[in-house]
This record gives sequence, structure tokens and C-alpha cells, in this order.
Amino acid sequence: MNVETTAFRAAIEAVRAVEPRIADAIVEELHDQRESLKLIASENYASPAVLLAMGNWLSDKYAEGTVGRRFYAGCRNIDTVEAVAVEHAKALFDAPYAYVQPHSGIDANLVAYWAVLADRVEVPYLKKFGKRQVNDLSDAEWAELRTASGNQRMLGMSLDAGGHLTHGFRPNISGKMFDQRSYGVDPATGQIDYPALREIAREFKPLVIVGGYSAYPRKVNFATLREIADEVGATFMVDMAHFAGLVAGKVFTGDYDPVPHAHIVTTTTHKSLRGPRGGAVLAQPELADQVDRGCPMVLGGPLGHVMAAKAIAFAEARRPEFATYARQVVANSQALAEGLLRRDVRLVSGGTDNHLVLIDVHPFGLTGRQAEQALLDSGVVTNRNAIPQDPNGAWYTSGIRIGTPALTSRGLGVAEMDQVADLIHTVLTGTVPDGSSKARYHLDPALADRVSKQAAEILAPYPLYPAVDLG
Ligand code: PLP
Repeated sequence: MNVETTAFRAAIEAVRAVEPRIADAIVEELHDQRESLKLIASENYASPAVLLAMGNWLSDKYAEGTVGRRFYAGCRNIDTVEAVAVEHAKALFDAPYAYVQPHSGIDANLVAYWAVLADRVEVPYLKKFGKRQVNDLSDAEWAELRTASGNQRMLGMSLDAGGHLTHGFRPNISGKMFDQRSYGVDPATGQIDYPALREIAREFKPLVIVGGYSAYPRKVNFATLREIADEVGATFMVDMAHFAGLVAGKVFTGDYDPVPHAHIVTTTTHKSLRGPRGGAVLAQPELADQVDRGCPMVLGGPLGHVMAAKAIAFAEARRPEFATYARQVVANSQALAEGLLRRDVRLVSGGTDNHLVLIDVHPFGLTGRQAEQALLDSGVVTNRNAIPQDPNGAWYTSGIRIGTPALTSRGLGVAEMDQVADLIHTVLTGTVPDGSSKARYHLDPALADRVSKQAAEILAPYPLYPAVDLG
């Protein structure tokens, strides 16, 4: 029996001895993931080494603080883990500084926002008051600093153009921390309108400009965004949660690599980067002290076991195979886009430069909600997403977002992408909206069943976790 099978079987049996329902859920999840055609752009399959690095006693240790400066005793092994993860992250992204403690992408963004506010607002106020730290301020001084911190401006990509809730939108804490204004895309091209962005920045004068997205299918010119930020005196932050794998794999280089251009970069580690669920922050050295305050400023104690898995994922991403993988992710995404375009499916921006494709389902008479569910009924897992100027709002939407990081990890290539495009087209043309609601629809169960079987046939030559046999 190979080492992965032995390890996972033993772990599941240990869990089963305490609570069989949890063991069953773990086994069922592998089964579900093996069976489904996963096109969710933000998901992937971490390697067995990444998964196994998380199941151990590194989880038991409190380690608030940073390497060598902990608020708890006995952290020498967590120090090793964190230092190795930082070393790999810096080398992978060619970054002068890395912080690997954030528990998720949202947490990484919060760390970055507080670091920017500290750098641009708190430090100047402390200087003005002649004080060293916030605890030294009088109540009146503290009130003045709090008012100033709460009145700063952020410019980020609009939600319907592909921005993320954490980029200053009202349903997220960032929308309460910042006065936000958005930039969008040119309706004719579906691509970022840089001259319009520059105009908004000149007029709005934000403290921070955020680049990065969850659902924008094109490259972003980060050199231009930095130029605009410099012109208006803004700190430039990039949230590369979605495309970090393409940066790591050197698909996005030069003007399209955010790391040399941004003052601060945040990411998740589990999407195209293919690591454990988690986040990280990269920064220019002048922001490092403020980022280091992430825990306990906005984060709970670091998760030693997850930092260990991040170290493994970063080390994997430094290998040449990962660059091959990243290039294939984009080749697959472009093949999928071409397959859909050939079948007259409308794509936002008319194609893709990255790992994701955004389908406009409006021409099919469907909402995103109806299309998402009909695809799911047919064994194709996607998610609905707003499109620019979406008439159906953020809940029902008019878009379906699909991405190739997961299928590419399984080994599928360009040839299979055309087959996948055909399945998507078949389901979208076969789904009839039910006029009584934006959620209901009719789909012939025989068609759904046929597509599910075809999806299983496409996946069959590419078993997921082939080394893991749970019996
Ligand atoms: N930032 C962007 C651009 C994202 O797309 C996401 C996740 O969808 C996040 C942040 C949040 O990541 P997490 O779910 O790990 O908090």
C-alpha cells in the first residue's frame, strides 16, 4: 500500500473511532469531488502533502506574535514552520517581505487595510501628538485619531465588474471602514477603463487604490495602476487571491505581476495557488512592521498546522512543474472560452487572459441562478456571478463564472475543454425559464442525466488523487 493511502486510511480510522459521521463525511467528500466536473474558479485540489501537513499537533500551539518575538513560550517549532513558509513565499513571488499568518483572504485584506491605516494615519498622528504609541494618547487625542481613521477613502473595482466584497462594499466591514468609490469596465470592451479610472482617482483622491478581482477575465496592468496611485498620493494594494497561481507560475510577468508594482499585496493560498485554505500578505519593507501587527490587531493566533501546509504549497509552487501547470490553466481557460464562442455563447469581454471565463446567460433567457442550478443538475459545478451592468442584481445575477484551476490539476487539457464547452452549451440551450420566478426553470431530466454521464466520461481518464485508495 502506498504512503498516501496508508496515511489517509489511518487518519480516517482514528476519526471514525470517535465520531463515525465525521469519518463518513470525509470519505463522501472525496467521492463527491472525484465525481464532479468542478469549474468553480476559486477552488482547486491541494496535494496530499499539503493536506497531510495540516493533520497534526502543530495545531495545538498558541504562537501570537512573529518569528522569534512570541507572546507565548515554547514556540521554537512554530518559529521554524513560519520562517520556512516566509522564506518560500518571498522566493516564490520575489517579494521583500511576506506574512503567512492570515487565516483566509478576507483576513489578509483586513491585515493590509489596518497596515495602510496605521502607516498613513496612525503614525502621522502619533508624531503630531509627540507620542510613541496609542496607549499614550489622551482621550481627546484618541478620539481625533479614531475619527481620522474612519474617514479615509478607498477606490476599488465595482462588484459587477468583478471586484470583491472586501474591496470597500457596504455588506462587508471594509465598507464601514472606508468611504468607497468604484471603477468599472468599458461597456464596449468589458475591460478596465484606465482613463476613466484615472479621472475618478484624480477627483476622489483615495488613500488607497485596490487592484484585483474575483470575476474579471482579463489581465490587469498593475504598472498603470501604480502610476495612477503615485499621481494622486494613494497607497496601492493588490488582492491577487484569484490569480496568485498565475503570478507564482510566471504567467503574469512585467506590468501584469502585481508584486513589484504594489505597496502591499494580499492573497489566498487555496485558489489557483493550490495550497491549504488560508491567506498571506506581501509588502514593501516600509509596511512590514505594521503588517506584523496583524495578530492580534485583526487576527486570532496563527494556525501552525496551516502555516506548515502553506510552506509545502509554496515549495511545490517553486518547482518547474508548477509553471507548466499555470500555463496550462490559462491555455485550458482560453480553449474553454473558444469552445463556447464557437457555439455562440456570449462571454463578458469576449474571452479570457486568465483562469476564468464569465458567461452572460441573458441571451438564453436565464438568470445566473437558473443556469447554475441547471448545470449542477447535469453534474457541472459552477457558480453564478454578476456581470457588468447586471439587470438581475447580485443575488439572481445574469452570469456564470467558470474556471480551470481544478480541472487542470486533475490533468484535463485543451481537447477536453471543447467537450466541456459542449456540455455547458447543451445545458444552457436545454433549460427553459419558468416565467413565475427568477429561480425556477424546466430541464428535461433525461438531458441532465445524459450530460452527467458525459461529464463522468470526460473525467474518467483523470482520476482525482489516484494514489489515494480508501477501499
Ligand atoms: N479576495 C478575493 C479577490 C476573493 O475572490 C476572495 C474569495 O472569494 C477573497 C478575497 C476571500 O477569501 P477567503 O474566502 O479565503 O476569505
